[in-house]
Amino acid sequence: MSSRRPSRIVLLGAPGAGKGTVALGMVSLFGAPHLSSGDMLRAAVAAGNELGERVKGHMAAGQFVPDALILEVIRERVQHRDCRNDAGGVRYLLDGFPRTLVQAEAFAVDSKLAPQLVVHLKVNSDVIVGRLTGRRTCPNCGASFHVAFAPPAKTDACDHCGSGLIVRPDDHEDTIRRRLTAYELQTAPLIDYYADLLIEIDGGQGRDQVLADVIASLKPWDGETPVGANL
Ligand code: AMP
Repeated sequence: MSSRRPSRIVLLGAPGAGKGTVALGMVSLFGAPHLSSGDMLRAAVAAGNELGERVKGHMAAGQFVPDALILEVIRERVQHRDCRNDAGGVRYLLDGFPRTLVQAEAFAVDSKLAPQLVVHLKVNSDVIVGRLTGRRTCPNCGASFHVAFAPPAKTDACDHCGSGLIVRPDDHEDTIRRRLTAYELQTAPLIDYYADLLIEIDGGQGRDQVLADVIASLKPWDGETPVGANL
């Protein structure tokens, strides 16, 4: 693993492992934007655009969207200005991508895009099913709540924008099981693939402790210039 501070980080973990929550906590620390592939695809579905039409069936069924499609979306997104540092290098905090070896390899062959650090949030599947079946999401601002662990102040209303909360269509138990199977078969092999870049975190703890562990594991890079600053 590099001794310089990473500026391209991938968060790896099953659905419900807490990648989005950890990403929000890391953004201010790293400055790189949080890119959630799931949020991007849900925005396309909500907008009813061509991409949304192409992905909504896969998503509702708990299946991955085609590699070529998501690669196009992420490649385009990392061209945006917020993913550039002053010297023109790429920076990101990726959540939900890559999810297959094909996706990982497509980024690995490009030294300007390849991740420099992979944070793996380990959580067992019973905990995940409990988290996802209780999850309530704001369709307007994307905020996430949990009926037991992080309830909104007002039942079924978003604390941030007041919109009515929903159960994501893919957060029903049979779809969750399909998503977990897809994770085991197609995404879990990335843990070995990224062995040299990997930091393992116990994602089964409460959200504050998970974030504290992630931040502690990144301490060795405090004060270092981000890798890629001069790319
Ligand atoms: P998430 O919010 O990350 O759980 O993603 C929701 C859904 O979007 C997934 O169940 C997939 O259908 C789709 N999706 C998100 N990211 C990817 C990806 N990298 N590859 C394939 N499908 C994806």
